[in-house]
Formats: sequence, structure tokens, C-alpha cells
Amino acid sequence: MSSFDFNGQTAIVTGGTRGIGRAISQSFLDAGATVVATYAGNEGAAEAFAAELGDAAERLETRKFDVSDYEAVEAFYRDIDKDYASLEILVNNAGIRRDSIVGMMSLEDWQQVVGTNLTGTYSMSKFAVHKMMQSRYGRIINITSPSGQMGFEGQANYAATKAGIVAFTKSLSKEVAKRKITVNCVSPGFIDTEFIGDLPDDQMKAYKGMVPMRRFGTPEEVAHSVLFLASRASTYITGATLDVTGGL
Ligand code: NDP
Repeated sequence: MSSFDFNGQTAIVTGGTRGIGRAISQSFLDAGATVVATYAGNEGAAEAFAAELGDAAERLETRKFDVSDYEAVEAFYRDIDKDYASLEILVNNAGIRRDSIVGMMSLEDWQQVVGTNLTGTYSMSKFAVHKMMQSRYGRIINITSPSGQMGFEGQANYAATKAGIVAFTKSLSKEVAKRKITVNCVSPGFIDTEFIGDLPDDQMKAYKGMVPMRRFGTPEEVAHSVLFLASRASTYITGATLDVTGGL
């Protein structure tokens, strides 16, 4: 069996119906997995994704809840426990930005970004680990960002969460290594999704100029790296961050 055959495996992908998350969900479905793709509120995007899948839609479940809401996450995992015998893969992809310089940043913008990006990653991972420990196998992949390493003006809240995700990943990887659960990060550079669609043209141009490959990446290019880390080919990689940045 190929290491990249995910038949019989179940993957949860947060923010899995749009942008990078959708490409990740699609790639797991193409590779034979059953996918539970979660989202926050954009039902149109979730329905469109399911409608475009054809036969593979039988292996997709979409679930709407806010990953920053601990009780909602707990309730979600109660259903997962009931409905799925095992859980092999969790991708913590859901993320938001609320850019502003620190001097002008509202407490709400700080808390929303921390709640979704960082607390969401903690809560989703906590219950996934409980389930993965039962089968002594698991793959957790957290989506971070170069912003967390480099820092970007106007992104102190976002950068802090993305740096926090790397530290969280390293710590959790050490806690669960003996149980054959690996925990890694993928760090996408500038990727063509709605996430950066609001940036002014001159800023887009400047960012493109910063990338040695002189182009933005595609969601599919990120998804391929996630699949590698989720596969049985990456048994000895844990606590690592894989940059998918065109050389940034
Ligand atoms: P999008 O904005 O295109 O999609 C974000 C997804 O996350 C949506 O499915 C959204 O749900 C979901 N989501 C947002 N908030 C919550 C929440 N509170 N609870 C549950 N789900 C939520 O973003 P991208 O696909 O571009 O980004 C995905 C990840 O990649 C993020 O973590 C981002 O930080 C990271 N990243 C992106 C880069 C880029 O250039 N695009 C660069 C580096 C990192 P809904 O559809 O319902 O709104």
C-alpha cells in the first residue's frame, strides 16, 4: 500500500471548506480519506464545496462551529466519538487576521485572533489527542505563518498567535511522541485566497517582489505538504515546521 493512500483514515480539517483548508480537504478526499471539514459560518462555501465533489461527497461531512468556543469544540468531539471509530488526522487550519498597529488595536481584535488561531488550536488538539491515544497513532498538522517568525507591521496579534502555534506544536509533540502521534506545522507564505484578497494592489505587488519565486503560492501547494506530514511516509518527523513559501 502506498504511504499516500489514506483509505480507511478519518481527517478533521478546521476551516476546511474554503481557501487553503478546502484544498487540504480535497486532497485527503482524493487520497481516499473520510473528511470532517469544519467552518465558522459561510454556509454557501461549505455547500458549494460539497456540491462540486461528486461521488467523494459521500466521504465528506461538514460541521459548523466556532473553534474559539471551547464548549462547542467539546460537543463536536462528543459527536466524533459517537460517529467515528478512530481519528487519524487533525489539521488546525482555521485562522483569521484583524490587522492594526498595536497602538490602535482594540482588545476585541486581539482576543478574537488569539481565540480563533491559538485557543482554537489548543482545544481542537486536546480532544483529538484523547482519541488518537486510544489507537496509539495520530497526525496533527498546525498551520502557522512566516508572520510568526519575522513579525509584520500591523500584525502583532496574528504574529503572536502564529509564533505561539509553533511553540505549542513543539511542546505537544514531545508529550505524545511515545504514543506514535506526530505534531508538526506547515508555514505557508503568501497564498492566493480570500484571506489576503483585501490587501491593496501596491502592497500585493510589494509582497510578490519579496518572494524569491516572484509569485504567490496556491492552496494546492500547501495541501501537498500537509498530506506529506499526515502520511505514513513521515514517521520520524515531529515538532517540525515545513515552510511552503517560495523561498521567503
Ligand atoms: P480563508 O479566510 O480563505 O479561510 C479561513 C477558513 O477558516 C474558513 O473556512 C473559515 O470559515 C474558517 N474559520 C475562520 N474563523 C473560524 C472560527 N472561529 N471557527 C471555525 N472556523 C473558522 O483563509 P486561508 O485559507 O487563506 O488561510 C487558512 C490558514 O492559513 C489560516 O490559519 C491562515 O492564518 C493561514 N495562512 C494563510 C496565508 C495566506 O496567504 N492565505 C499565509 C500564511 C498562513 P468560514 O468559511 O465559515 O468563514
